[in-house]
Amino acid sequence: MALSGLEIYKHLPKTNCKKCGLPTCLAFAMALAGKKTSLDKCPDITDEGKSALDAASAPPMATIEIGTGDNKVEVGGETVLFRHEKTFFHETAIAVKVSDNLQKDEIAARVKQIEELKFERVGMQVQVNLIALSCDSGDAQKYADVIKEITLSSKLPLVLMSENAQVLEEALKVCAETKPLIYAATEENHEKMQSLAKQYNCPLVVKAADLEALATLSQKITSAGLTNLVLEPSPGDIGSRLKDFTKIRRLSLKKNYRPMGFPVISIIGGKDPMEQVVEAALSITKYTDILVIDNVKPEEILPLVTLRQNIYTDPQKPIMMEPMLYEVGTPNENSPVIVTTNFSLTFFTVQPEIEGSKIPAYLLITDSDGLSVLTAWAAEKFTAEIIADAMKKAELEKKVSHKKIIIPGYVAVLSAKLKEESGWEVMVGPKEASALPKYLKESWQ
Ligand code: SF4
Repeated sequence: MALSGLEIYKHLPKTNCKKCGLPTCLAFAMALAGKKTSLDKCPDITDEGKSALDAASAPPMATIEIGTGDNKVEVGGETVLFRHEKTFFHETAIAVKVSDNLQKDEIAARVKQIEELKFERVGMQVQVNLIALSCDSGDAQKYADVIKEITLSSKLPLVLMSENAQVLEEALKVCAETKPLIYAATEENHEKMQSLAKQYNCPLVVKAADLEALATLSQKITSAGLTNLVLEPSPGDIGSRLKDFTKIRRLSLKKNYRPMGFPVISIIGGKDPMEQVVEAALSITKYTDILVIDNVKPEEILPLVTLRQNIYTDPQKPIMMEPMLYEVGTPNENSPVIVTTNFSLTFFTVQPEIEGSKIPAYLLITDSDGLSVLTAWAAEKFTAEIIADAMKKAELEKKVSHKKIIIPGYVAVLSAKLKEESGWEVMVGPKEASALPKYLKESWQ
């Protein structure tokens, strides 16, 4: 159980030295109880106090790493139930399933399809993260051979899916250094599975028929010294899975219940592709950390990675573009100059409309801390002075032979002041980006 602030306080040095960044030891104790700081911030804590407080300072949900190098995936480590309370840290890792029963060329083609599931959205690359290789053949040698082939053509980390410890032992002999996720330890096989996970230092999925059995099994495995776990409650239908996932998240974050303090995995497969997409979307929203699906078509994956990106961006940090002068098409000295803010969605709404107009232009992006036009204007982060300063820094006078700048219609009120600050003629563009092509054709050309 989590310790209260006062219980933590008893184990602190009580010198109020402020080295931890807080004014008193009591303030530090309260912050530690609320998971808002970590024990290592107090340099003067005794070994005795440290061990007494380990339980309170440990994160409520473990962070688990799968894979190595640039493609390494981290899941778990969450601290809040709802994104608006703070942020979510590690987005749901999406794994696409491959069966070892496929022919060699079919496996190669499927892996290639998985590798190509990469998309660019609001300036960021989004993609699937893992390959889940299911041992449907039951043949350990065949499974190990397929792993060798896959690791030659893909660097995506693997989920090794078999409940047969012998199969997994052969598999780990050929790929343990890539740190795959082992799926799965059950009540029947957990001793063999946990010793494999320990020997090869790989994370392990623990599955059980219900939450009580899952907690008991998780406790058994952690007391054997393994802490790199992922939980899978009974598969059931989507409704019962969401209930179980919510209970696990609440037990770990609100009750600090250690057996449930791990990320969760959801296996969705063998259904109609669209049904899988719907279930996968629901699972991403609550609270799946690793999702295994059969879908491999871009049109089925794109909605999932888009939803995931929307949920897992930090609500306190808007997605921003670098403030600078962008060229859309190949502008020349007669091209229009359009100014807007550095909120990513604004940029990626305006830029394609200019492209669509077939009129090359300069797009001047100012630093508005990632706020959209009206919000930035209201917060005084998109003012005439800021725009004039950005125009000067971009050396617009060297780029174009005219002195006209187009501002968003929503901030028409800035026209006179901007003219005064910059000495340029200010043209008021449309309020909506979708009206830009018509505006440029009619008002610029
Ligand atoms: S650093 Fe430690 S001893 Fe100093 S005020 Fe913070 S908690 Fe107290």
